Amino acid sequence: MSLLETMADKGLRREPPTRAEALAVLATSDDDLLDVVAAAGRVRRHWFGRRVKLNYLVNLKSGLCPEDCTYCSQRLGSKADILTYTWLKPEQAADAAAAGMAAGAKRVCLVASGRGPTDRDVGRVADTIAAIKDRSPDVEICACLGFLGEGQGERLREAGAHAYNHNLNTSDAQYADICTTHDFSDRADTVQRAQAAGLSPCSGLIAGMGETDEDLVDVAFALRGLDVDSVPVNFLIPFEGTPLAGRWSLTPQRCLRILAMVRFVCPDVEVRLAGGREIHLRSLQPLALHIVNSIFLGDYLTSEGQAGKADLDMIADAGFEVEGADVPTMPGHRREGSAAPEAEAEPVSDAEPAPAGHADLVAVRRRGAGTDLPPNA
Ligand code: SF4
Repeated sequence: MSLLETMADKGLRREPPTRAEALAVLATSDDDLLDVVAAAGRVRRHWFGRRVKLNYLVNLKSGLCPEDCTYCSQRLGSKADILTYTWLKPEQAADAAAAGMAAGAKRVCLVASGRGPTDRDVGRVADTIAAIKDRSPDVEICACLGFLGEGQGERLREAGAHAYNHNLNTSDAQYADICTTHDFSDRADTVQRAQAAGLSPCSGLIAGMGETDEDLVDVAFALRGLDVDSVPVNFLIPFEGTPLAGRWSLTPQRCLRILAMVRFVCPDVEVRLAGGREIHLRSLQPLALHIVNSIFLGDYLTSEGQAGKADLDMIADAGFEVEGADVPTMPGHRREGSAAPEAEAEPVSDAEPAPAGHADLVAVRRRGAGTDLPPNA
């Protein structure tokens, strides 16, 4: 049986590939690209049909973070010309969330920059969740506030949060290259705290930061090991003013192979096409819908995505459908109550020069939350 047939068959059984198989997926040639997408597509359709879940980001607090994650435009010392503002008021956040929901989003992700929330911050977010749920009781809320302290996950759960996002980002081995103010185990610890508090764990990765194939496979297996429910796959947005500015190492084909590898390692979880899809996948974005079952709609935290209308058109044109609020995202065996499935850092010195024109693809967000302009949804 060929590698890709094996990968698909294992995915249908929720069986992980071996490390060597996952690495082999990343090493496939461009000639095999459509076969890779088709094999991952079999797994995706088995667990999630042709549904695409839409998620909408609301940046509650932007910029001025004391942490030094090299990929982040909100980091300590960032010269990126992004919007900076402190906590949105609950009604402001509810207005922003409403725009996303009106366009079909069933999950709203409430994100705040910073190392982690104070107990007072958790109270602000609880008030924000109440304001959003007052208008839309059924919306899924995911909070992303940094490292969770004792009892904070439980408070968010009681306030109505459904999920908590905290990305592992990369492998344990590469972590010190992308951040010096915290480490991989700090991140994994918060994912576990969220899970223990009854929140659906959401944790993903960022590709394009100088990692090796082994790093990508390691982080994918680490996410599987944490039994997360959703895995956002980001492609580095190399902001001017951050240490990783100018790093354009990804091709659309490599992005698809990375997504497929993650799908094979985490076959029955929500794999989400996240930041950077427009600038790295470019005209191949619709192919990614055969692999992922979830995307962010509209803009990102500090950069602009393509128009929300273009996202919806892309989904329809590719033959997929927006997942309705009345349809559970997760396969039955992963839903609540079911049994768990089985089984300032130095810039990276070997950065490739930016291919001409690519830096222009990064548009800093100038609309939506924290501005007087309507959001993109
Ligand atoms: S990723 Fe989060 S913790 Fe790291 S610098 Fe950005 S806002 Fe701060």
